[in-house]
Amino acid sequence: MTRKQKILNPSTNEALAEINVAGKEDMEAAINSSRVAFDKGPWPRLSLAERKKFLLKISEGILAKAAELARLETLNTGKPIKESTFMDVPSSAKTFSHFANHLEEYLEDTILELENAKSHLIREPHGVVVLIVPWNYPLLIASWKMAQALAAGNTVILKPSSLTPLTALELAKIIHDAGLPEGVVNIIHGSGSEVGQLLCADKRVDMISFTGSNEVGRQILGYAAQNVKKLIMELGGKSASIVLADADLEAAVNGSLCSIFLNQGQMCTAMSRIFVEEDIYDKFIADFITKAKKIKLGRGDDYETQMGPLISQEQRNKVIAYLEKAKAEGAKVLCGGKIPDATDLKNGFFFEPTVLGGVSAQMNIFQEEVFGPVACVSKFSDVEEAIKLANQSNFALAGTIWSKDIVSAESIAKKINAGIVWINTYGMFYNEVPYGGFKQSGFGKELGREGFLEYTRFKNIISDQTKGAKPLVNYWYGF
Ligand code: NAP
Ligand code: MG
Repeated sequence: MTRKQKILNPSTNEALAEINVAGKEDMEAAINSSRVAFDKGPWPRLSLAERKKFLLKISEGILAKAAELARLETLNTGKPIKESTFMDVPSSAKTFSHFANHLEEYLEDTILELENAKSHLIREPHGVVVLIVPWNYPLLIASWKMAQALAAGNTVILKPSSLTPLTALELAKIIHDAGLPEGVVNIIHGSGSEVGQLLCADKRVDMISFTGSNEVGRQILGYAAQNVKKLIMELGGKSASIVLADADLEAAVNGSLCSIFLNQGQMCTAMSRIFVEEDIYDKFIADFITKAKKIKLGRGDDYETQMGPLISQEQRNKVIAYLEKAKAEGAKVLCGGKIPDATDLKNGFFFEPTVLGGVSAQMNIFQEEVFGPVACVSKFSDVEEAIKLANQSNFALAGTIWSKDIVSAESIAKKINAGIVWINTYGMFYNEVPYGGFKQSGFGKELGREGFLEYTRFKNIISDQTKGAKPLVNYWYGF
């Protein structure tokens, strides 16, 4: 019997939809259809110009339904409608059009003339690619992965988070309307703990692109090891921001607020540790707290809302547990730190924007990813010390530097152990350049030429060019 699951609106804790949950048989059907579509179907064999047309149609389809998708994303995740309208949805469409418009360039063959030989380097798709995405940017991360995987000629199975499947299901309709051949895209709503292993260990799957927690990432590494698969792992973070005394203070304060409170702090690149140079610390922290207190909490679908609820009761409980532990270890709550009192927010999973002081590197909160609206702000006197603290983490995803001296900020950026460092800005992602972390933040890139090429495999065809067509191997055993 088909199992049903209620999908909640985290702003109200009310059911938004009830949808069918995929079981083992559905999973089997998805893997099978992707495999057949890759091995026998037209997709990997289409001309690049035709592939491009399909991807452009998906991009147009997203734009045609932009308002509906933004509303759905907001209802399902709780994120402010302004964020889904101006960031998530248009960026998703843009990723499809970017890879459509660049796939011919990125997939161009290379020919190298070698000593007595010619090498023909070809980029091929891997085959069946499983895409597993989290709940914080459901449509956007699914679009990143899908646009690149499809542009490279793979067939895909997308598994959205159990909490946020709704925009992925709309994307399925858009793709259907775009007329992609059967089996090229399979989107399944299933529980990761139930079907993840089936999907990730199966021999018929060639590659897994995963974005999510370290805990699940480690499990997937184990599943993938059974049949040795190509992986992209985009995992957690505990990123740091360094605010130098010569920074534009207003920009640094406003940007730092965005860097921890956008999307309720549920960002893998959240700047959860902010180090401020002592000369400006007092002014910075005063302004930061004043503005953090003014952030307007509310339902995601209210245009006035600047911060919505966390994704779930479970996530809010996790944030509270991290805070309690931090307080017990000596951290001071400088603002926020609790569930808001407002009666109109009482059913949703809201939590106040929170600023902690007195956090030291030994504390749990300095090391672990909270994935919520909690900023740890501290001061430094020596920039080398700030760099050392920023790098004192098992994660190495992102960093931010605020300074008017770009040359010196760049030299600091080079010392930061992170895959992406922003200077005087935050959270800017571009389809043209790669994104991805180091250490326990994972490996492999998304976006840019480098990210795209992760979804391809490199084949090297070497042919002999020796004069007279008698290469060395001819003589070795040439009795
Ligand atoms: P999660 O719990 O790791 O879940 C991510 C996805 O994995 C979901 O679709 C989940 O499905 C699935 N999953 C769960 N167990 C699985 C298993 N055993 N096998 C295969 N798949 C399984 O992460 P989350 O709570 O959704 O998202 C938060 C985390 O994502 C944070 O740690 C954050 O840092 C990270 N993140 C990283 C990036 C990045 O680019 N580095 C970006 C965004 C988020 P179910 O929902 O059904 O459990
Ligand atoms: Mg989870």
